[in-house]
Amino acid sequence: MADAKNKTPFLDLVTMHQELEPELVAVFQSVLRTAGFVGGPLVEGFERDFARFCGSKHCVGLASGTDAVRFALMAAGVQPGDVVVTVPHTFIATTEAITQAGGRIDFVDIDDRTYCMDPAKLQSYLANKCYVDQASGKLYHREWKAPVTAVVPVHLYGQVADMDPIMALAERYRLIVVEDACQAHGAEYFSKKQNRWLKAGSIGHAAAFSFYPGKNLGACGEGGAATTDSEPIAQKMRMLRDHGQAKKYYHDMEGYNGRLDAIQAGILGIKLARLNQWNEQRRECALRYQELLAPISGSVTLPYEPSHSKAVYHLYVVRTPHRGELQDQLNQAGIGTGIHYPIPLHLQKAYAGMNYKQGDFPVCEQVASECLSLPMYPGLRADQQAGVAKAIEEFASVRSSG
Ligand SMILES: *Cc1c(COP(=O)(O)O)cnc(C)c1O
Repeated sequence: MADAKNKTPFLDLVTMHQELEPELVAVFQSVLRTAGFVGGPLVEGFERDFARFCGSKHCVGLASGTDAVRFALMAAGVQPGDVVVTVPHTFIATTEAITQAGGRIDFVDIDDRTYCMDPAKLQSYLANKCYVDQASGKLYHREWKAPVTAVVPVHLYGQVADMDPIMALAERYRLIVVEDACQAHGAEYFSKKQNRWLKAGSIGHAAAFSFYPGKNLGACGEGGAATTDSEPIAQKMRMLRDHGQAKKYYHDMEGYNGRLDAIQAGILGIKLARLNQWNEQRRECALRYQELLAPISGSVTLPYEPSHSKAVYHLYVVRTPHRGELQDQLNQAGIGTGIHYPIPLHLQKAYAGMNYKQGDFPVCEQVASECLSLPMYPGLRADQQAGVAKAIEEFASVRSSG
């Protein structure tokens, strides 16, 4: 058994905040002394800074990433009963938000190497499962006879989905694109079409971010934001987060209580100034894993970063058919791991009523049964990574010899 000092946790959220403690406490004090708990300059300041960080015109601070996906869909024009297409390999918040926006969830499978939406699968979905109504020019689901109006690609594990072909399909079929960038603050994608690097959150019609503590940019509590270049979409999201009012007690519609509070906004502002450096540390850690694990990459599949992608490694996910054994062995060596995610959404109990079955999304199902997330966070040390690699090597050599 490893002793405590040799342990490598899956995630360390304590150490990174120690250095920031005086600044974070000062935010709390200043908010306490002005009692500006909701809205105000800290929220507006953070929104400006985060919009700039994402290369987006507007940012709307929200209570969570789930609200961000929901409000982005609603504000961009998804109507109750519309079909919204996403992937089954994501956190359930993606699909909860679709349902909460009044949408009807449907799935296309992921790419076997990037684990993000496979544009070819989306293309065949739109061509075969949908039809264009000649009278209205609108896209409909063949079987459900419901309008298909939006796509939610998820930038999973910190890597941007292959957005050029997704945006091209969206344009051709007049679909709304809401990026789920909840794991991808600062990730970049090289658009061949625009011949430049684009930040996650600046590519679709709107995008959602989460500031849940464990995300690359995390609050000391709950938080989220949505970005967009569209003034009307931004305006609608500001109304949705605040009970449908643009002016106090003048409600143009029913909305929600979905605001980002001032303490969290102040904290996020301080942490945002460090985000590039933290993401760089994550990328260095990923490179080190890559080097350490290259010799055994035959027995453990390593993450794939296409040349059009600069991932920010929210998670570092490897694959092996012997996932359970590897996880046990790492656990015994004092190394924490996670599984993101063990059950594809289409096979979750929550969606039993949708009548999907095993085999419907084979790539996702395979990945869900094989994926294992290794320790990954800014501040993860080289010696800890070497320990992780050594434990995986031992596992691989035992398997190949026995
Ligand atoms: C975290 C996360 C969300 C939801 O964010 P919350 O802030 O927890 O509501 C949505 N989608 C993905 C992919 C996430 O990882």
